[in-house]
Amino acid sequence: MFEIPKSVKIGGQEYKIVFGKANDFLIHQPTKCYGQCDYFNCKIELSEEICQQLKETTLIHEAIHAMSEVYHMELDEHMVRILETGIYAFIKDNIKNIEWKD
Ligand SMILES: [Zn+2]
Repeated sequence: MFEIPKSVKIGGQEYKIVFGKANDFLIHQPTKCYGQCDYFNCKIELSEEICQQLKETTLIHEAIHAMSEVYHMELDEHMVRILETGIYAFIKDNIKNIEWKD
């Protein structure tokens, strides 16, 4: 598990992370989505109604969407889901303690 930060920087842009009820902010398939990336307002919205592990994977998922937008990768939903699963598993299986030093 890792702590969900208050914001993340993606391609030099700061995305604020906000929690809410999925039905309040999710436009598409609210029953199946746990988060949303609002590119226009640099905001990643996560459902407050899901477990910690799902919050973590959803943050990675939405961050990949933001990277796809910022870096013009044009990833589709299927590719984002594959990367989400792969990156999350890599971090969980291999990275134990991260302490970045400036
Ligand atoms: Zn998605």
